[in-house]
Amino acid sequence: MNQPRPLKIYNSLSGKKEIFTPITPGYVGMYVCGPTVYSDVHLGNCRTFTSFDVIYRYLLHLGYKVRYVRNITDVGHLTDDGEDRMAKGAKVAQLEPMEVAQRYTVGFRDMMRIFNTLPPSIEPIATGHIPEQIAMVQQILDNGLGYESNGSVYFNVPKFAEQYKDVYGSVSGRILDDLYNETRELKSQEEKRHPADFAIWMKARPEDLMIWESPWSTGFPGWHLECSAMSTKYLGKNFDIHGGGNDLKFPHHENEVAQNHGACGCHPANYWLHTNMLLLNSKKMSKSDGNTITPEQLFTGDSPFVSKSYSPMALRFFMLQAHYRSTLDITDDALLAAEKGYRKVMETNKLLQNMPITAVSSSTETDTDRAILACIESAFEGMDDDFNTAIAIASVNDLGTYIHKLANQQLDGSEISPWVLERAKAAINDLIINVFGLTDDTASGGDDKAINGLMDLVLQLRANARTNKDWGTSDQIRDALNAAGIVVKDGKEGSTWSIGA
Ligand code: AMP
Ligand code: ZN
Repeated sequence: MNQPRPLKIYNSLSGKKEIFTPITPGYVGMYVCGPTVYSDVHLGNCRTFTSFDVIYRYLLHLGYKVRYVRNITDVGHLTDDGEDRMAKGAKVAQLEPMEVAQRYTVGFRDMMRIFNTLPPSIEPIATGHIPEQIAMVQQILDNGLGYESNGSVYFNVPKFAEQYKDVYGSVSGRILDDLYNETRELKSQEEKRHPADFAIWMKARPEDLMIWESPWSTGFPGWHLECSAMSTKYLGKNFDIHGGGNDLKFPHHENEVAQNHGACGCHPANYWLHTNMLLLNSKKMSKSDGNTITPEQLFTGDSPFVSKSYSPMALRFFMLQAHYRSTLDITDDALLAAEKGYRKVMETNKLLQNMPITAVSSSTETDTDRAILACIESAFEGMDDDFNTAIAIASVNDLGTYIHKLANQQLDGSEISPWVLERAKAAINDLIINVFGLTDDTASGGDDKAINGLMDLVLQLRANARTNKDWGTSDQIRDALNAAGIVVKDGKEGSTWSIGA
């Protein structure tokens, strides 16, 4: 293990930072709730997945063998009025639900690649795990913690809360009465014994499109069930880390924990990590509320919220500048500052890597050596303190001050020892490239690759708009590209692009 000091992680279960101790030394099992693929991924979702990408990358950096599981929700996530989000998306676009899921899953993966997030080890899909979910419902029934009502199966929350004291509420840190009062009225309320009970299997209504046979009815699993079933399947009954946005604490994670106890009799994850929300106009960015900005809008600058376009790496840097547990408000000024900050950090690394290693006159540590080592130490100390990228970036900037002075020979009489320079080169490159996951968006080759990837995505989105006869969006994309000096030509074989032709 490459660990000079213990890794501390803020655990939502205890509400405290704890020293991370994996179940099996050297190995980490991590499950993160993935996207619901009924519409385009928004920047808020990207923030959460980028945060967990950095956490994954840092665990790898520390030398752990990590199995990172992130699911795709393509069934069972209901809207407030009880309609399946996938089916609703399909009806609106006149598509098969699986067509909707495929389109947005591909779009999501493309976006994750553009943001340079590493693919998870396993990306299980909810509809590919219906037998596992049915088996879990059966286990919960066998353990007396669920009941069937009119073909649907409900989890018996009061019975669970009585049997497993202090568990329901442990993730969100709230008391049972509050959680009971927060339960929303859903259509099937009359089938439940208690308003807080939640469906683990739902009998299909004639209008439901995604349905499967089960011992109780033809229907579909409840939304929370997939994560319990898939985390157990791939990581075991008890694993190390479970993550998601903090909007998922209740009901999703609370219900997941209850289901795992109900089926397997133990707590699923030892550490629960929750990212804070990306805000737009000081309000949570949310698909269902329409308060969203898509990454493409920022890549093209085609949004009333921004004055210009921003590269994916500038946006990634923007997200890393804040600690994952702080809210982050997106404004044009903040993005402009992040773009500058990103360039500065990349420039520091470039200067450092190009610095020649020369012998020094004295064999003892110089003042510059000590200052540089302190910056490196503080950067990694920040990462060890609950993955605090904000502190790590500030330390890289402090180091940048010395590197610039050294490069300009402004450090009076002070020198850097070869071993310190070598250490700085390796450590900072590792931090910026491997842990922060930043790539140089001005480098040739990488630049072409990024632009080609981006253009493929933008033209695909425009083609989707044209298929849906959404001429307004299609023209808007073409005009915005034109304004940026990119000409789009539509032909029989699809659309092509060229710069300024
Ligand atoms: P969804 O597709 O809505 O299920 O969300 C996928 C992930 O993105 C979940 O972990 C959410 O908690 C997270 N998420 C949703 N909105 C935001 C936001 N505004 N900021 C950060 N994360 C978010
Ligand atoms: Zn989940």
